[in-house]
Amino acid sequence: MVYSAPHVKHHSLIRYFVKICRPLAAICLGFSLLSLSGYLVDLEVLYRPIPSGPATNPLTAILTTLLALGLMLPPRTRPCLSAMCAYIGLLFISMRLVDEQFGTSNAALITSFLYNPLEHLNDPRNNVMGLNTTAMLLLLCLANIFRRHRKAFLSQICSFIALAIPTVAITGYAYGLENFYGDMSLITTTLGLLLSISSLFITSSRGIVRAVLSPYIGGRIARVQVVVGYLFCFILGYMLVQSLVNTGLENLFGAYVVATSWFIILLVAMSAAAQEKIDRERRTVERKLNQIETLDQLTGLYNRVAFSQEASKCMAWQRRKNSTLYVMLMDVDYFKKINDHFGHSVGDEVLATIANALTNSSRETDLLCRYGGEEFVALVDVNAHSGALIIAEKFRMAVEGIYINDFTDVHGALSVSIGCAPLNDMIGLEQALANADKAMYRAKHYGRNRVISFEQEFTAISA
Ligand code: GH3
Ligand code: MG
Ligand code: MG
Repeated sequence: MVYSAPHVKHHSLIRYFVKICRPLAAICLGFSLLSLSGYLVDLEVLYRPIPSGPATNPLTAILTTLLALGLMLPPRTRPCLSAMCAYIGLLFISMRLVDEQFGTSNAALITSFLYNPLEHLNDPRNNVMGLNTTAMLLLLCLANIFRRHRKAFLSQICSFIALAIPTVAITGYAYGLENFYGDMSLITTTLGLLLSISSLFITSSRGIVRAVLSPYIGGRIARVQVVVGYLFCFILGYMLVQSLVNTGLENLFGAYVVATSWFIILLVAMSAAAQEKIDRERRTVERKLNQIETLDQLTGLYNRVAFSQEASKCMAWQRRKNSTLYVMLMDVDYFKKINDHFGHSVGDEVLATIANALTNSSRETDLLCRYGGEEFVALVDVNAHSGALIIAEKFRMAVEGIYINDFTDVHGALSVSIGCAPLNDMIGLEQALANADKAMYRAKHYGRNRVISFEQEFTAISA
């Protein structure tokens, strides 16, 4: 019966994307090890899926293994191991780049345990890791390192640019443009795609990705724009390349298509991030305003206005459930004396403590409200009249059991008088409250600190 506005903590889409990252990394790990075993057992198809096409270099397979491990290790329990994978990766990539610069072949030594590349300089297996693959793996290592240092934004930018590289290769394979995939084998392309996606979405709860996956309007617009924008450019590009294939302009045009689609996605993602930031601030302010409007500041319980609104919802719900609602009006006994003897601030503290005790002894489905000065109302949903009396008694005892240091030992136990009355379509809220008030005054009259049922007292209906 508590109908507070649902506060979306972690949108299920974000949770879903975070969840699939580790299985994706595990698939990469499997493929990387499979490629490596191809070199070990000399089975070419495992590292060169298309005969005479590009092969997955053993160094690439080692690096993708490290990156997949880095993504699979739980960040909280194994941060050092995961960072180590990325740093080793960086070291290997630096060796490859030094080789490129100075014409050395040190990087090949790393993989010499698989076969001796220096002895087989003309061996077709002795290919080097392509520069596009190197750039992609470098970006993925950096993304992992940024993630370790909780720089989600930078990590996502690195993963995003890394993702662009296998996407270009895939476009090349789809369009039949060799220049687009170059040395990147189909296995490396797939591994790159999976690793980049996993690396991008593992930080989904933060940064740009959070904005794109947000359940609010900005995220919804961004998702549609990303998918539609990308598919549109990809399909249009494919059709045009097919018709331009004889003109020789296909490479230029292919590059144009990839660049445009990537630019659109980046633009949309950035604007979604900005929009989401503004919208989040607005939602926070709105939530605070809503709280001020509906909650009593001293006790944190619903105020009278909010109580009436929530009570009507409860009535609608109860009609379907066919259970009975009861209102319980609780008035603190001799509260004025507390104010007079201990001061208003102690009186305030007593009220807050009573509210707390009532909340603790209420169920999740009970509606509690500070009805006025030292009066509280509970709306409870029970099966029978006797059940209502049990709950009211629980509230009474909860107040009686309150201990406040330097107060209850001087003043004695606190107490409330409770009037209990049924609420249904025929009686209505106003009438039910008036009945509960009548019963509560009868409780005062009988000596306070007790529960009186309106039905029993005034209509002689027994439990
Ligand atoms: P009874 O047992 O008959 O209910 O006696 P009582 O003294 O509780 O009833 P009465 O209505 O005479 O006094 C209620 C007092 O509650 C009067 C008012 O000053 C005090 N009060 C109302 N709101 C607040 C509040 O927010 N803080 C404090 N400290 N006192 C409040
Ligand atoms: Mg009163
Ligand atoms: Mg009172």
